Amino acid sequence: MFYGIRRFMSQTICIANQKGGVGKTTTSVNLAAALASLARKVLLVDCDPQANATTGVGVDKAGLEKTLYHALIGDAPAARAVIQTPVKNLSILPSRVELSGFEVEMVDEPGKEKLLSAVLGPVRNDYDYVILDCPPSLTLLTINAMAAADSILIPLQSEFYALEGLGQLLQTVRRIKQSLNPPLKIAGILLTMFDQRTNLSNQVTEDAENHFADLVFKTRIPRNVRLGEAPSFGLPILLYDPASAGSKSYMALAKELIKKDQG
Ligand code: ATP
Ligand code: MG
Repeated sequence: MFYGIRRFMSQTICIANQKGGVGKTTTSVNLAAALASLARKVLLVDCDPQANATTGVGVDKAGLEKTLYHALIGDAPAARAVIQTPVKNLSILPSRVELSGFEVEMVDEPGKEKLLSAVLGPVRNDYDYVILDCPPSLTLLTINAMAAADSILIPLQSEFYALEGLGQLLQTVRRIKQSLNPPLKIAGILLTMFDQRTNLSNQVTEDAENHFADLVFKTRIPRNVRLGEAPSFGLPILLYDPASAGSKSYMALAKELIKKDQG
């Protein structure tokens, strides 16, 4: 009975922004771990050839037999590449540098935008949340992630030029809705690396709220040294330093997201 309810509620969230270094991977890893700590079953999918999410949960890439790349090219089902992370309830579909070949190799493939959606089909209902960490581009991998997702979460770095490029991102979301994935929603806009002492952070928040109103998450992720350190230990912040401001903020985000889903 409970299983039936959980299947119904499975949510796939794509974490995307074509700007580099805005906190996509930090958000993917730490939101995924926070949701897992709240007893949700979570699959983190590393859609970026940089493979920072894979490293960020402590996976030894050299030891992997199959990765997302193999699933996408039809060489292995997703379930064969999925591995359990050190975090209870959190699994990962890992990546490695070979994923960078995907865009070129698939250029003539019919239905190339829906390959990730097809790969996730048989496994996604085993999880309450599937979190897709995107690369800093609007190319085929990100389009696959948007085509496979129920919603998109956009991290916005609290800095000058933060909103620049957002128009292009939203235009891409509209195009994907029209062609590949009509039900795609915006889960929300997340302010990252926030520093409330600076006028700039507050200005970016004000601009974002003026433009996007309720779409902006109430939770803001502070700039926090511990969040920057955690990946080099292969640990989500929740395990690296649970008492840190960064850890508390990602827990708050997970709760806000669950509340939104239930409301
Ligand atoms: P890319 O576009 O390259 O994939 P990204 O958008 O995934 O980058 P991250 O890798 O999450 O961005 O973050 C960029 C850098 O900033 C990393 O070194 C990360 O550890 C650091 N960082 C991210 N969020 C915070 C934060 N809230 N406080 C301090 N450092 C942070
Ligand atoms: Mg990243």
